[in-house]
Amino acid sequence: MLYLKLLAGYVAFAILGFLTIATFTSHFTLNYIKKDTASTLYRESKLLASNYATNYYQGTMTLDDISSQFSAVSLYLDADIWVVDKNGNILIKSEGETAPASGTVEGFDITAFGTKYYQIGTFFNIFSDDTLSVFSPISINYKVRGYLLIHKPISDLISLKDGFLNISYMTLAIIVLCAFVMLGLFTYTICIPLRKITQAAQDYSTGNFETQINIHTNDEIGYLAASLNYMALELSTLEEDQRKFIANVSHDFRSPLTSIKGYIDAIMDGTIPYEMQDKYLNIILHETERLNKLTEGMLELNKYGVKGTMLDISKFDINNIIKMVAQSFEGTCKEKRISFELILTGQTCYVSADVSKIQQVLYNLIDNAIKFSHTDSTITIETTEKNEKVFISVKDTGIGIPKDSIKKIWERFYKTDLSRGKDKKGTGLGLAIVKEIVSAHNENINVISTEGVGTEFIFTLPLHQGG
Ligand code: ATP
Ligand code: MG
Repeated sequence: MLYLKLLAGYVAFAILGFLTIATFTSHFTLNYIKKDTASTLYRESKLLASNYATNYYQGTMTLDDISSQFSAVSLYLDADIWVVDKNGNILIKSEGETAPASGTVEGFDITAFGTKYYQIGTFFNIFSDDTLSVFSPISINYKVRGYLLIHKPISDLISLKDGFLNISYMTLAIIVLCAFVMLGLFTYTICIPLRKITQAAQDYSTGNFETQINIHTNDEIGYLAASLNYMALELSTLEEDQRKFIANVSHDFRSPLTSIKGYIDAIMDGTIPYEMQDKYLNIILHETERLNKLTEGMLELNKYGVKGTMLDISKFDINNIIKMVAQSFEGTCKEKRISFELILTGQTCYVSADVSKIQQVLYNLIDNAIKFSHTDSTITIETTEKNEKVFISVKDTGIGIPKDSIKKIWERFYKTDLSRGKDKKGTGLGLAIVKEIVSAHNENINVISTEGVGTEFIFTLPLHQGG
């Protein structure tokens, strides 16, 4: 559309340009030529009147001499030169084609010129076409004896004007051509890219983020295209994430619900005999707990969705917290015959963080370590101080994480194939929560793991400043 508007403007400009030359410029050029020619001819007539015509009257020059003199000037000026007396009788004339046969200008009256020294017309009906006529009186001893007249057909002036106009038309044509080149350039550099961008934006608005804008210029349009491409990419991954998330949520909720429903149905219609009911009710309880855990996990994660999660930062001894959390796992550890090895820096190590959140991080990490460890193994928890930070590591010698899963373990609901068989109750939300908590503290968490050898999670916390 922009292109059409530009094109319309361009065409209007060209038409207006030509119209202006054809009317305005033509009119003023002709007027200018008329005035200019009239004044030239007038100067010439004055010269001839005073230099030659008087000689004729005084008899100091022969008619032939004067005639030939006039003819030469007439040829040079491309105009007719006449000398008439006060009654209009033509006394001398140059060798032009136009002159009344009678040798007299009928109805000649010099006052017809008015106050001007020239007139445009048919000169007392002698000429068939418009003619520019100028006159100078021939005076001898301050007495007017006759007039010197010079006639030039207006058609001569018009052809002169047309010559000038042609130059103007040519100039305009060149300008129009240049403008056309500009228009092309403008179309190429602005209109076409803008059209591409508009098209892409339309695609994005309908939810199709596949469209890529192929503009790589180093200007505002190029930057706009790049920004839009980036936006589309972000939006598409966001959409993809959301789809995955919903699919995972639905799946994780459906499987416990299906089994709960199945067992309850079986109990109610008597498929499961009364004596066996306890066992299945226990499974149902188990599944319900899992659902509960899922819901809690999601609620927890939801809190971190928004930027700037409220943290209740305080100073506490991380070594002490590690000991407490480890203790809470005593029961499970005994079952699996797993022991803890705590390698802690000094007696106390004060950090600034949100205690309850960090407790949860430790809980989730140790829970994973125990879940994915073999019986009769050791879990090492270590703290190290370095550059105003405390590094906390939780290390096990369990099943490990396959290489291509390592990046995904932080995703919500993600569980490796290895763990699926071992831990039916896991939701896959634990590490996602851990990650969110550590990020909310502006700290980092990393994992080092080898499949079949073991896993180590290391995260940082800021040391408390000033002891
Ligand atoms: P939940 O924490 O809700 O009980 P989960 O433990 O399965 O479920 P995450 O804690 O998020 O979920 O862990 C995601 C996955 O990462 C686990 O299922 C497991 O496959 C893998 N993983 C985590 N920690 C370990 C570990 N110490 N050793 C081996 N694999 C691990
Ligand atoms: Mg876990």
